[in-house]
Amino acid sequence: MSEDIIRFDKVEKRFGDLTVLNKLDFSVKRGEKVSIIGPSGSGKSTVLRILMTLEGIDGGSVTVDGEPLWHENSGDGSLKPASEKHLRKMRGKLGMVFQHFNLFPHMSVLRNITEAPVKVLGLSKAEARQRGEELLELVGLADQAQKFPSQLSGGQKQRVGIARALAMRPSILLFDEPTSALDPELVGEVLNVIGKLADEHDLTMLLVTHEMRFAREISDRVCFFDRGKIREEGTPEELFTDPSEDRTREFLSAVL
Ligand code: ADP
Ligand code: MG
Repeated sequence: MSEDIIRFDKVEKRFGDLTVLNKLDFSVKRGEKVSIIGPSGSGKSTVLRILMTLEGIDGGSVTVDGEPLWHENSGDGSLKPASEKHLRKMRGKLGMVFQHFNLFPHMSVLRNITEAPVKVLGLSKAEARQRGEELLELVGLADQAQKFPSQLSGGQKQRVGIARALAMRPSILLFDEPTSALDPELVGEVLNVIGKLADEHDLTMLLVTHEMRFAREISDRVCFFDRGKIREEGTPEELFTDPSEDRTREFLSAVL
């Protein structure tokens, strides 16, 4: 667990006059489970969206698996802007689970999971189906394969969202507040699945969450974001029981 699989170096991100990431330095090691906590608007989702190449950056650099996200090596050692091919390759390393599930409403549960592996990875329908059924089993939804998203509870939808992300065999899984749109009684079933994945040694996980107790249980490291920077980071033990920054203490006392 020594190599950085994700690395942000002095990353700047602005929307008009608003600086969202302010020379952010941030890295995650292969296999590490990292939680990001912090107030609304502090740039947490932006970090995940940049990794998914849903947003560009205004300065600094982002590397995934040792390769720059926005550039590629042109062969002579210099860097050129990323081609669509390079971006596709880099995106293939990551899967993302969204707050609002983002399932395809007109497709069955199983098809939601098999669509991208067939279209993007070129799996045969039979292979994708088999893998899809295994993943539904993993998230406890083997009996829901033929349903449509509208027939599922929020907790079930999110478990499909997790299975769909895993179907692309990412080495990094990103979660953006995966339980914050759920009724309280449905949160546990989703956290259970995420907790199961956290036991997978090889999978790198980056989780933005308000579930402090859960973050504490599953994370190797917790980062407190504040105004586009990491204000404080440490083991869950350090950060939750003995934060060194007043700002962290303030935030935690408001949410715990
Ligand atoms: P968090 O996830 O920590 O709540 P975000 O990363 O979503 O924060 O957003 C950080 C800031 O950037 C917020 O003030 C938000 O309003 C702003 N922001 C995010 N996306 C956009 C966008 N596409 N256009 C303009 N402002 C944005
Ligand atoms: Mg957010």
